[in-house]
Order: sequence, then structure tokens, then C-alpha cells
Amino acid sequence: MSVCFSLIQPDSAYVNGEWVQSQSNQYFDIYDPASGRVVAKVPDLDESQCVAAIEGASAAAEKLKSLTGKSRGQILRRWFELVLESKDDIAQLITVENGKPLAEAKGEVSYASDFIDWFAGAAPRISGTVEQASNPSNRVITIKQPVGIVGIITPWNFPAAMITRKVAAALAAGCPCIVKPAPETPLTALALANLASRAGFPDGSISIVTTRKNTIAIGKVLTQHPLIRKFSFTGSTAAGKILSSQCTQTVKRVSLELGGNAPVIVFEDADLERTTDAILMSKFRLSGQTCVCANRIYVQSSIYDKLAAMLKAKVERFRLGAGLDPETTHGPLINKQAVDKVDYHVRDAVERGAKILVGGQRAPQLGESFYLPTILLDVPFDALCAREETFGPLLPMFKFETEDEVMTLANKLEAGLAGYLFTTNVSRAWQVAEGVEVGMIGVNTGIISDVASPFGGVKQSGQGREGSSIGIDEYLEVSPIIVNGK
Ligand code: ADP
Repeated sequence: MSVCFSLIQPDSAYVNGEWVQSQSNQYFDIYDPASGRVVAKVPDLDESQCVAAIEGASAAAEKLKSLTGKSRGQILRRWFELVLESKDDIAQLITVENGKPLAEAKGEVSYASDFIDWFAGAAPRISGTVEQASNPSNRVITIKQPVGIVGIITPWNFPAAMITRKVAAALAAGCPCIVKPAPETPLTALALANLASRAGFPDGSISIVTTRKNTIAIGKVLTQHPLIRKFSFTGSTAAGKILSSQCTQTVKRVSLELGGNAPVIVFEDADLERTTDAILMSKFRLSGQTCVCANRIYVQSSIYDKLAAMLKAKVERFRLGAGLDPETTHGPLINKQAVDKVDYHVRDAVERGAKILVGGQRAPQLGESFYLPTILLDVPFDALCAREETFGPLLPMFKFETEDEVMTLANKLEAGLAGYLFTTNVSRAWQVAEGVEVGMIGVNTGIISDVASPFGGVKQSGQGREGSSIGIDEYLEVSPIIVNGK
């Protein structure tokens, strides 16, 4: 199958409504994780080109602010339609640069476009309040205004959705965006920006600053330039801490979606068929590389062996391969380093006494980015995979006896993004759901991402919420106007 690059310009980034090259003649390659082959190259922009993007966004900020919410909503709706019309082409770009199976990539385009549609609806509904002033002579009204230019840095695991979840909300609020996509997956970002321009957003409303070599320098521009008023990041906790601390000098508003380490708690009264499917969906989506993937599977001891056998039977039916092959159910990891980390976690657990139920090794016959879907049994609580996010196809099963014991285990880490619990006991479901320290919890489901549901973490998994009825607030300032009527 030949991949469609018609939505992007060869060797170009997208800044202020134009396709641009590197002014220092530096480019970097984009690889297909399945084959290891180079599929495209993009410019390694430098700091001055990022500053030019910010200056262009300044002009766009005035234009966006002067549009009514209804007009911004109409442009967003057109963008949504253009993205859906190009769904197949965008999905192919996602698969060649990220590796996920084409069906999953199409699912991502739907999910990504949902945010555009959602915030198209939110834009005309931005409204303030009338408050009762303490002073009887005064009247207080509040208005909501765009926060200003937004700096955005995104990861490679959802090359489309991590961008639209932020950018659609920002544009709905009237804020232009400078996006630095992950160096592994800039092509999808470029295609989306092109379609946003075609939809009618003023030049400079969305610029895509591609870089690999200048990542740290451009990160500093996006977190320290005084014209940027808001910074939004999705990625690792380590990078998020650095970038957020860089924002303090200019007191930017900051949203962070950082790493998770999702506990899954399965009680003995759970419906095991349903639980099996939900765990597999959560664990092995994108071969385990989402921040809400099941990470630590705690199973009550009386059903441990039965659930393990059921999971194994279904994992053995997975078909590992290249994402463009229609037979493939599970694709490669993003690169060899990701495979090395999974293998390291597997070896560590085995050395500490865990047993391999299925998988447990690389799949070199497919390519260096492939690792077999793996289930480990009797994993000790001090194993690395019990403490650190694996970000790969490793499902470690731990045994527990009591609810108190498992709550302590689930809450002992500093990560708090997603969690899952399985039970048919309603009161237990409520109690555990309220007691697990995470931003989002799925009860008897493995899929929690939904445009309507606020996405975000607690503890060291981040701050702020994306999507849902409150997602637009991340890009709005609330200002009271106090009028003395005497
Ligand atoms: P991952 O390990 O999943 O790639 P990272 O947090 O390293 O997660 O990367 C997420 C995004 O953050 C990517 O776009 C990456 O280039 C960017 N990034 C990581 N560290 C920095 C930094 N110090 N400055 C700017 N961007 C960064």
C-alpha cells in the first residue's frame, strides 16, 4: 500500500500559514517503526524560527479574539469536516510514523476529530456571570477572555488526538497555538495544521515547529518567551517537571498530562469474561504505549489462576505485525529503546521470581521494534514493573487477599492518572472508585477516553483537565468588571 502524503509538503514545517524549510539547512528523518525505513524528512527548525512563529501568532491572536465565538465555532466545524474527509490519509500517516495498526489509527482520527467537533460547539457558548456585589451600589459581571498565545508540546503515542485535544480547545477560546510535536511523529501534526488553515483559521493560528536536535532550545522558547501566556504539555513526568519549572519565570498558566501507572483491581466477584476483554483492551492498545494503559494487575487470589488462563487464551490469538497489514491486531513499539525497556522490566521481574505465562521475548523476525505480548505471573511487589511505567506490552499479575491490602498497593505510587476496577458489588465499586488516588477510574471497563469525560491526573501525573465541558476553561481568563452605579 502506498502511503498518501498529499496533506503535507515535502521537507517542510508549517509556520504562520506557510510551508517553511530549515534556515540552517538541518533536517531529520522520520522512520516507520515496523520496517525501520525512512518515510520522510522534516526541517529541524531553530529558536529564531520558533520566535517568528510566536510573532506571527501575535497577529493571529488579535484576529481570533475579534471573531465571535460563533465564527470560531464555524471554522472549527469546517476543520472537523475536512479532517473526516481526509480520515484515511491521516490514518495512514499515523500508522507509518507511529506504527499502530491502521484500524486503530482510524479510531484515533475519529477520537481526534471528536475534540474539534466538541469545541466547535463550545466556542459560541463561552459566557460570563452576573454576581451579587457586597456593596449595594456595585454591579459585578464576569467575562471570559482568551488567555493568549499557547505553547504546546506533544508526544508520539497519539500524533493526532494529543494535538486536537489541546488546539481545538485553545482555538475555540480564541488562542493561537505553537505546537512542537514529538520528533517521531510530526507528519500528522503538519497535516492537521494544513487542514485547519484550509478551514479558514487566520495565518499564525496554528504553527507546527518541527525539531529534534533543537528540542531543548525550542522547549525553552515555548516555556520562557513572554508573549506565550499558557503552556500545555503531554509527555513524561520527568520532561513535564523540567518544562513546568521553566514556565515559572514568566508566570505562565500550565497544563500537564504526565505519565501514569494504572492499577487494575479485580475482585473475586467480577464478571471474568468482561474483565478479560477490558484488561486486554486497556493493556495492549497501541501495544501498551498509552499513558492510561493498565500497568499493575492486582487480582484477588481465589480467581487468580482462572483469570490468568483466560487472558492467556486471548493473548495467544493476537497477530503481531506491521500496522498497514490488515491482518495485524498489534503493531510494533515506537523504537528499539522502547523494546529494550520492556525487556529490562521482564528480565528484572523474572530474576525476582516471576514466571512467564506467555511471551517474554523480542520478536526479531518481525523487526527490532517488536516485542511479544507478555503476561507474567506471581510478580513480586518490589519488581520494577510494579513501580515504574513499562509503556509496552507487559501485563504483570499480582495476587492480593483483602480490599485494604489492595488499596494500599494501588495508592503507594506517586503516579495518579488512570485506574480500573472490576466487581459486581455496587457498594464496593463506589468505595474503591472514590478511594483510589487517580484522576480517572474505569469501573468494569477498560476504555475510559471519551471527549465528554475530563481527562487528567492527580499527584505527579499532572494538573489541569482536557476535553469535556471544562476543557475550554484551561484557555480562558475570568475577569470581573465592577461597575459603581451611584
Ligand atoms: P517520551 O519518552 O514518551 O518521548 P517525553 O516526555 O520525552 O516522552 O517526550 C514528550 C514530548 O516532549 C516530545 O515532543 C519531546 O520532544 C518533548 N520533550 C522532552 N523533553 C523536552 C525538553 N527538555 N524540552 C522540550 N521538549 C521536550
